[in-house]
Amino acid sequence: MTLNQYIREVQDFPKPGIVFKDITPLLGNPQAVRECMALLINNLRDRKIDKVVGAESRGFFFATLLAYELGSGFVPVRKPKKLPYETISATYELEYGTDILEVHTDAIKPGDRVLIHDDVLATGGTAKAVCELVERLGGVIVQCNFLMELSFLKGREKIGNYEVYAPLVY
Ligand code: IMP
Repeated sequence: MTLNQYIREVQDFPKPGIVFKDITPLLGNPQAVRECMALLINNLRDRKIDKVVGAESRGFFFATLLAYELGSGFVPVRKPKKLPYETISATYELEYGTDILEVHTDAIKPGDRVLIHDDVLATGGTAKAVCELVERLGGVIVQCNFLMELSFLKGREKIGNYEVYAPLVY
C-alpha cells in the first residue's frame, strides 16, 4: 500500500488556484491510519513525550491517537475564543493577513517534553506559532511532525531549528 493513494487532490479549494490535499480518504481507511501511526510514532516511543499538542482542527485527529499510543496528554491549540479557560495567544501570517492561535495557560508545565502535530506543513506559519506558544509556557519541543510536508513551500526553514518529520513529502 502506498499512502499517497489516500490523499485526494482537490482543485481550486478553498480558493481558485489552490490544489488542496484532502486527508479524509486516509482517515476513512483504518489500514492507512495504522500505517501512518506506525511511521509517525517510530522514533518517538523512547523519547518520553509528556504532551502531544495538536493544531485545530485537522491536527486533532492524529494528535489524539499519538497521545493515546505514547501514553501522553493531549493539548488542543485552537482558533480564538474557542477555549473556555485562561489562554495565551500567538499571531501568525497567512497569505493575506494574519490569524491567531490560542492554548490554555495550564496545558503545558515548564519542562514538559512536547510533540507538536498537524496534518500538513505548508508555509510553516501555523507550526511556528504553535512552537512559540509551547515555548512561552516552558515546554521543550522534541519534534514537530505532520502527515505531509509540501516541501516546495519551504515550511521547514520557517519553523527553524526543530526536528521535523513527515511520512509524506510533496
Ligand atoms: P501553513 O501555516 O502555511 O504551514 O499551513 C498549514 C496549515 O494549513 C495546517 O493547519 C493545515 O491544516 C492547513 N493546510 C494548508 N494546506 C493544506 C492542504 O493542502 N490540505 C490540508 N490542509 C492544509
